Amino acid sequence: MSAIECKRCLYTTRHPFGLTLHAEGICSGCLTHEEKHTLDWTLRRELLEKRVTAYAGKSHGRDYDCIVPVRGTPEYFYVLHVVKNVLGLNPLVVAYNSQFNSEAGIKNFDLLRDVFDVDLLHYTSNPLIYKKLIRESLARLSSMRWPFIAGETQFPVQVAVEKKIPLIVWPFHQPTEQTGTHSYTEEPEMTRRSRHEFDLMRCEPDELLTVESLIRPREIEDLEYPSDRLLTKHGVRGLYLSNYLPWDSRRYSEEIIERYGALAALNRRTFDTYDRIDDCTYMTVHDILKSSKLGYSRVTDSLCREIRFGRISKSDAKVIEQFYQAEMPAAEIETFCAWLGIPVVGFHWLTKQITTSENAPRPRPVLNEKQQTFVASFKTNTAPVWETKKYIVYGKGLSV
Ligand SMILES: [Zn+2]
Repeated sequence: MSAIECKRCLYTTRHPFGLTLHAEGICSGCLTHEEKHTLDWTLRRELLEKRVTAYAGKSHGRDYDCIVPVRGTPEYFYVLHVVKNVLGLNPLVVAYNSQFNSEAGIKNFDLLRDVFDVDLLHYTSNPLIYKKLIRESLARLSSMRWPFIAGETQFPVQVAVEKKIPLIVWPFHQPTEQTGTHSYTEEPEMTRRSRHEFDLMRCEPDELLTVESLIRPREIEDLEYPSDRLLTKHGVRGLYLSNYLPWDSRRYSEEIIERYGALAALNRRTFDTYDRIDDCTYMTVHDILKSSKLGYSRVTDSLCREIRFGRISKSDAKVIEQFYQAEMPAAEIETFCAWLGIPVVGFHWLTKQITTSENAPRPRPVLNEKQQTFVASFKTNTAPVWETKKYIVYGKGLSV
């Protein structure tokens, strides 16, 4: 059956998180979004305070109240702002190294550590094993990002168990934000099940242990979620701030750029200068794979948010989507293939295999004045992401 598009936003029924269309052809994501305008968010913020009070000062050893996983983008400054300045908690900040860091991303990490005066625990998996896992997930799932997602959703939970800090504060529940899988009042939490279903594309790390893959059990240890026995024993819980605050990535990012000088940068295939600017592959290699496979790209996600907040019309959003989807990041694909040790033609062969006729690239339209004004309304205060020519793994080699 061919995909049906929501009458309000750009998502279709092919969205991998599952999208349902309701009366009048409006999607579940748009309907859940309306809660941002209808719920009593003052009450919900009080509920958040109640939820976290139970954890304040309860951790053992070092006096951390919670764990906050971060990336080097403005949105994560906002999470720390809420956790430290609004809720008055002392967080242990953790980050799983993507190994594709841009200069803006590394500088944002440094800045947030200084601005919020926090301890930052950064974990880097063995690069050779990481590459091996990326090759495997590319072949098996057409994803170069699966190993990072598996590590990023495992590491904070592992630290919670090891350091006995049971509360983890995540920014938002992506399936609720995009396709409205839950009402905010249901307070979805980060669990093994939601990780399996939405983050890992229903592929657990141990499924990579096949004879053909030559991956050994110890090589997936960094990706394996702690056991239910340990999680229960330590009472580990992952809260999403978006259940208690009317989450708006754009507004929060702009507030934080203004307040703390977080860095925002131009990026390939999007107008959103706040989103994923920490990673040189997200809007390039990953985005090409995503649009080839699923027929939509990251700019679609940003445009759906902008439509729902009433900041752009659907007809303008359609043109802007096509404008950015037509951009081919050839240099970035070449850099990635050289890094991974695969031929560029092999990457293009793979994208061709997964591209359906519906997803075939379309010609690049010209943006009118109104559309250009919208695109230019996103702020920048540092060099474009594409100026980072070589991935920064440890923060060495930064130009100052
Ligand atoms: Zn919709």
